Amino acid sequence: MPVAVFPLGPLEVNSYLLCREDASPGNREAVAIDVGGDPSGMLAWLEEHDARLAAVCLTHRHFDHLYGVAELARATAAPVYAPVEDDVLAETESGKGGIWGFPPVPPFASQPLPPGKCAFAGMECVVLETPGHTPGGVSLYFPEQGIVFTGDVLFYRSIGRTDFPLGEHAALLRSIHEKLFTLPADTLVYPGHGPETSIGDEIKNNPFCGEYAR
Ligand SMILES: [Zn+2]
Repeated sequence: MPVAVFPLGPLEVNSYLLCREDASPGNREAVAIDVGGDPSGMLAWLEEHDARLAAVCLTHRHFDHLYGVAELARATAAPVYAPVEDDVLAETESGKGGIWGFPPVPPFASQPLPPGKCAFAGMECVVLETPGHTPGGVSLYFPEQGIVFTGDVLFYRSIGRTDFPLGEHAALLRSIHEKLFTLPADTLVYPGHGPETSIGDEIKNNPFCGEYAR
């Protein structure tokens, strides 16, 4: 606690559960961020920690982040929130899957995830617009926990691809510099793929957008 990581699905998407550290047992809620595949491990974690899933939030609508969304939402009755500017991807191959030998994404209903302040599972959350990898991609910043979920925008020592339809490299770099790199340096970064890092560490050492890349 408070973050549990589950690399799921054919592209090992980091699927996360976050829950308040001070939540009392029996009163515990969690929020899921992206669900890349079979969510049985996430469901077992929820049961083990006696936590109710309050919401499933999506950083963006790429198929590899969505495979387990329908099943997790069905099993927990949690609402799904997705950034509306990515709705344009919902009917495309990069949103629906079924390309490059990967299976199609089981369909699910979602509600808008508007930018700005909100709360999930009793935790304040700031939805940061971080387009570039996709037109509507967001990062989910939890200031009290000092954690940001960056989807496929910022990784440990790397940045998101922009060669998919509607990707835009200049927008991605703007998102990183103007939104993510203005967060406190000790903010932990939980990306959509690969290991965790911190904002300060990437400002210093990221070869694509850090100090040496300028
Ligand atoms: Zn992606």
